[in-house]
Amino acid sequence: MDIPRIFNITESAHRIHNPFTPEKLATLGAALRLESGARVLDLGSGSGEMLCTWARDFGITGVGIDMSRLFSAQAILRAEELGVADRVEFIHGDAAGFVADEKVSVAACLGATWIGGGVTGTIELLAKSLRSGGMILIGEPYWRQLPPTQDVAKGCLANSISDFLMLPELLESFGDLGYDVVEMVLADQEGWDRYEAAKWLTMRRWLEANPDDDIATDVRARLTAEPKRYAAYTREYLGWGVFALMAR
Ligand code: SAH
Repeated sequence: MDIPRIFNITESAHRIHNPFTPEKLATLGAALRLESGARVLDLGSGSGEMLCTWARDFGITGVGIDMSRLFSAQAILRAEELGVADRVEFIHGDAAGFVADEKVSVAACLGATWIGGGVTGTIELLAKSLRSGGMILIGEPYWRQLPPTQDVAKGCLANSISDFLMLPELLESFGDLGYDVVEMVLADQEGWDRYEAAKWLTMRRWLEANPDDDIATDVRARLTAEPKRYAAYTREYLGWGVFALMAR
């Protein structure tokens, strides 16, 4: 079981697989006023940076589940590197339908809400693992500017304009689901650059090391096209944030 190989190549050097910087991740952890010993569940935990740094900085414990074999292995190494391997556990697997044995104080899905079939389904899934009074974290894109055409939305790698909302409507939608938005931390364009531009050097190095690989033509095409596509579309139109929710 694994995610499509292209992501394991382009994001192999990422510690954070979303437009958050290490500073934003720390800001979010502090904003949530996490208590030492609080238990955190992370669906689509990537290379484990959130759980590992929050275990180090705030004393949380946690479990992460991710379908990428590479990212899951990197998460375990990161936990060892930060000296928190006794506090966090990483499971390699499909997080769809995953419910924790032990209820958690914080249940998160940052940048992987397809796991629950969209934001609504993911909130419902996370709620099954949450203790009463706990917090749900959703990391999700929104439109910074509404794309003027469907082609612009496609340039942002969305299927259509309706894939995402503007920020006020996204915040309102959480209310419609019965949740208060109690905190949020938003990415900025520099954070997007760290997420997207970091892929370019990774792709370049990978191409130099793997010129005859089956997927090399695809990686070459991406490296050629991505800087301009990113600057024209994603960087201008797409926002991203993490929203902390508590049931009303
Ligand atoms: N939350 C992490 C990773 C976000 S990227 C971070 O912010 O760094 C999306 C992640 O979802 C990737 O790590 C990918 O491997 C994972 N993923 C995709 N489909 C999944 C599934 N069905 N179950 C678990 N993880 C999945």
